[in-house]
Amino acid sequence: MKDRLGFSGEFKILKPSDYKENLNINPLWYLPDSPVGKLLENAGFSGIDAKKPIDWSSEQWETFHLIHTARIKGELALGTKEEFPANFNDDDRWCPEDWDYKRNRGINRFTGKENTSVQKDHSDLIVVHHTNTTPGYSLEFFNTLAMLRLYVPEFIKGFPTYDGKFHPLNSGHYSRDGKMQFHGYHCYIRQSGVMQRTLRQDETGFHAGSYPINIRSTGIVLDGDFTDSMPTQNQISSLKLLINYLEPDNIIAHQEVKDKNGNRTSHNCPGGKWDIWKRKIGA
Ligand SMILES: [Zn+2]
Repeated sequence: MKDRLGFSGEFKILKPSDYKENLNINPLWYLPDSPVGKLLENAGFSGIDAKKPIDWSSEQWETFHLIHTARIKGELALGTKEEFPANFNDDDRWCPEDWDYKRNRGINRFTGKENTSVQKDHSDLIVVHHTNTTPGYSLEFFNTLAMLRLYVPEFIKGFPTYDGKFHPLNSGHYSRDGKMQFHGYHCYIRQSGVMQRTLRQDETGFHAGSYPINIRSTGIVLDGDFTDSMPTQNQISSLKLLINYLEPDNIIAHQEVKDKNGNRTSHNCPGGKWDIWKRKIGA
């Protein structure tokens, strides 16, 4: 029987046992020259161009579920809390490629100046997103998706590059029960209006496509594909509640975020009707 994720639960194309050892034992399972890395590359999961879940082929579903199952069962080799250098906090970077580890200082990539006091303030700004998927995927599903779309591409590049070596995947974010979390948003708002927190307010998410925006914003994602439609009334009510609680100075859509060259980091997130519903939330 097919589950709602579009996967039957039976592997017909891949043989999970062929990859088990690589996932479980090799902490660099994601690298392009590993068996799993090759699989990820073939399925298009190793970059931000990964397709929307609703469009996935059977092979892509099987690849996703292979990694997903290993992750939720705790059979996926990941980094540990202890392995970052003492002064390194994943969240305190000021653009990773420009971090000066010897002096423990960030160099502002725009001005070239030293940044001695990286100011994080996630209540300053709210950035609104949509999941751009059929609604109803589980948080665990989104957790694996974020790991593959956000973290794997960065770690393949050698990030974090404090010693120029590759490292096991490590988000630096943990749930209360100690499980590593890869969510890029701080909060999900479901179509029923239910809110699910995925990052603490003092943690930095990967969501705006811009580090200067990420370190000072809260990422809130509305579950659904609002390319041509409006979020539900319950979603809008919950978003308003959250905005009242966080009291940000500004509320913007992902599509309004610009990179250092002045280009948009997203063309349509959270969909084409933002100009209509933004008024309802006071943006
Ligand atoms: Zn977005």
